[in-house]
Amino acid sequence: MDKNFVLDEFQSTVSELLIYNRSILDTLAKVQETSAKLHWSVIKSVTRCGCIEIKASKTDIPSEATLADLKQILDSHVKGELCESCREYIGKSVGRLLFYTTAVCNLLDLNIYDILLNEQKQMKMLGYYNLA
Ligand SMILES: [Zn+2]
Repeated sequence: MDKNFVLDEFQSTVSELLIYNRSILDTLAKVQETSAKLHWSVIKSVTRCGCIEIKASKTDIPSEATLADLKQILDSHVKGELCESCREYIGKSVGRLLFYTTAVCNLLDLNIYDILLNEQKQMKMLGYYNLA
């Protein structure tokens, strides 16, 4: 299945299903709420399930390190792997966040496929400097 078709179909389905929270204000609030739930679900994988741990400490970055070196130097601080249950729950949380993010796009007449395409083009053009 063509990725463009999948994204357009997803955006169209979100448009059809968004009955409540049709106000941009409500939808923006739902983006924040679902983002907070995603954070909560990752935290619960650590504190309730225990399938992953977060181990963080100060990272010393050598003064001669380049941006490309940082990928090797910097750590995700995540240890372990998500269990099946947490993977499913976090995946659902990401899905809800994508739903309301797409709903914001719909309300502002923005095409999610075009946005992703432009973002990818920007990333390829600017490389590591894109996110600085
Ligand atoms: Zn787990």
